[in-house]
Amino acid sequence: MPTYDHRAPLVAVMLLVALGLFGRTMWRRFAVLRSARPETRWDLVATRAKALLTIGLGQQKMFKEPASGLLHAFTFWGFCVLGLRTVQLFVHGFAPDFALPALVQRPYDAVVDVTEVVVLAAILGFFWRRLVVKPTRIAYSGEALLILGFIGGLMVTDLWYAAAHFGARHLANDAAALHHLAAAPFANLLAGTLLAAGFDAATLQLQAEANYFVHLAIILTFLNLLPMSKHFHVITSLPNVFLSRLEPKGALALVTDLEARLEKEESLGLAQAEDLNWKQVLDLYTCTECGRCEVNCPAWQSGKPLNPKMIILDLRDHVYAQSAVAKVASSGGVSAEAAGAGEKSLPPLIAGLNPDAIWACTTCRSCSEQCPVMIEHIDKILDVRRHLVMTRNEFSKEVATTLKNLENKSNPWGMAANKRADWMKGLAIPTLAESPNPEWLYFVGCAGSFDDRAKQVTLAVVKVLQAAGVPFAVMGKKEKCSGDPARRIGHEYLFQEQAKENIATMQDGGVRKVIASCPHCFNTIKNEYPQLGGKFEVVHHSDVIGRLLAEGRLTLQQGAALRVVYHDSCYLGRHNDMYEQPRETLARVPGVQLVEVERSRKLGMCCGAGGARMFMEEKMGTRINDLRVGQLMEAQPQVVAVACPFCLTMVQDGIKGKDLQDSVQARDLAEIVADALQAPVAPSPESGANANPG
Ligand code: SF4
Ligand code: SF4
Repeated sequence: MPTYDHRAPLVAVMLLVALGLFGRTMWRRFAVLRSARPETRWDLVATRAKALLTIGLGQQKMFKEPASGLLHAFTFWGFCVLGLRTVQLFVHGFAPDFALPALVQRPYDAVVDVTEVVVLAAILGFFWRRLVVKPTRIAYSGEALLILGFIGGLMVTDLWYAAAHFGARHLANDAAALHHLAAAPFANLLAGTLLAAGFDAATLQLQAEANYFVHLAIILTFLNLLPMSKHFHVITSLPNVFLSRLEPKGALALVTDLEARLEKEESLGLAQAEDLNWKQVLDLYTCTECGRCEVNCPAWQSGKPLNPKMIILDLRDHVYAQSAVAKVASSGGVSAEAAGAGEKSLPPLIAGLNPDAIWACTTCRSCSEQCPVMIEHIDKILDVRRHLVMTRNEFSKEVATTLKNLENKSNPWGMAANKRADWMKGLAIPTLAESPNPEWLYFVGCAGSFDDRAKQVTLAVVKVLQAAGVPFAVMGKKEKCSGDPARRIGHEYLFQEQAKENIATMQDGGVRKVIASCPHCFNTIKNEYPQLGGKFEVVHHSDVIGRLLAEGRLTLQQGAALRVVYHDSCYLGRHNDMYEQPRETLARVPGVQLVEVERSRKLGMCCGAGGARMFMEEKMGTRINDLRVGQLMEAQPQVVAVACPFCLTMVQDGIKGKDLQDSVQARDLAEIVADALQAPVAPSPESGANANPG
């Protein structure tokens, strides 16, 4: 019988050294988290647990790409299954015959055996993808290949260990051990091969011991590499998913005590590592460098310098560099002065970021939607904008003009504020001042009030609401910009001013329910006004019209067959999960034949206008709206239906750019419904705020 006296001292030394080194690295990583700004992410535990189960353990987001998703999921689930086996192997260093009760151990051994073969197959699949298929989103990485080699090595050494052990016991006629080991089919098969090769018991025992120690050495080396590489996500991804953001997706975080901080001339936004909160640091630790955000970013796809993956990695590298400086400072090897000088010698984080990349973001949320580990990109990009705008005053002339227009005229185009209500001249629509406490407030928005094309949509919405007898009022000249462009530009102070003014007008007028036409206004009023005390029930016109059709409050006439493709607005779709309502509304229009393109719903591509990009020239790369219209044309539509005034402009321009304006139209879905109304009702005073209540 073999003896295992050599194991305990060796395993003990390996564990002490490896866990000591691992603990030291983890402590440094943890110290950065501890020193970062506070953030509350411990609430709503049940919702967090659900995300952990579905996105974390269930690997839900990985399956957006089925092939790589399956490979990753099998590897991940395999690791979960093999966790206990790993503990047992270390225990065998000190108690070689330790086993769970046979009723548990035998089936578990069988599961371990099969799992190891499945994981090995997945690893071979990964090698194939990286070395042969070479998907564009995956950069060549020697480190990734090494890690794959380690995982494959773990599977091979454990299988071999079990097989050689089995073979040795077989030759020793150890019936009890054989009964135990026979449950593992692949190890058995391999044992048969080893025995057939003529190895004697001593050689097989030597092979078993060699594989046992190589296996432990790989695990401990792997463990130490994790926090020093992109594979840190193996440790951080489950916590990152559990601690992910549960606020409405479309809401940016509120900057509190803003006036006081501005007065004190504090640095605002994100300029250096200390400005990150601990969850933002955890995000940086967790990036797997998978490139899903990169290949789905409209800015990157259209040749702009913005790559969301690189934003995360650049921030991460800066945090690592900063913590390295802090380590030197705390090591006692340098004087406090020298350490201080060292810290100052590290340029601020913002110096390493390309401003063109920061301003190229359309805040479309495609990056975060795709990220399998729930990393939030927009908050970091917009925190940098906040710093550029509110602390450094560094922005382009067109941004300066937009801000000036917003400040002076409360609309981004600088149109005379007293012309805001001109669109409703002669329509006898009551204002909030004339008819307080309305059933509904129709928040028209800047585009719907000033832009000639968007004004047609406003009139179509009014026509539909009046035809259905929906009582509503508008704010008229009292309406201000919702604040979306100011906030997305990074001017939090201006946003808060505009939002507070609108909230006060709405609350004074007794508003409880709001219809918004512009998804940006819709998102801001619905998700961001509550941060400032403005709580209203907010619906988008695509939803309201759908409800009116479903309730039979609108009668539509049969029209000619119309092939329509719907373009998802980012602020309805990815920011507010409204994918089906606009489609259901369109599908209720007689004659409309809805068709889809590959990139729709969560995968839909931005039109290029979000994040206040509507008010900035697009000078680099291809125009995003040209790319998007190219995708939409694959469905050969007669009409591209939209539900956003910015999308309307961008799609319309894209159609013109392709010289297709004679065969394809861009139309808001409200216009399509208004055109189909059987008996158009002329706007009248009776259809205003207090007519037909309820
Ligand atoms: S929000 Fe959109 S534009 Fe901005 S980085 Fe993410 S994917 Fe790119
Ligand atoms: S941020 Fe997310 S999607 Fe982008 S590379 Fe990192 S893990 Fe992948």
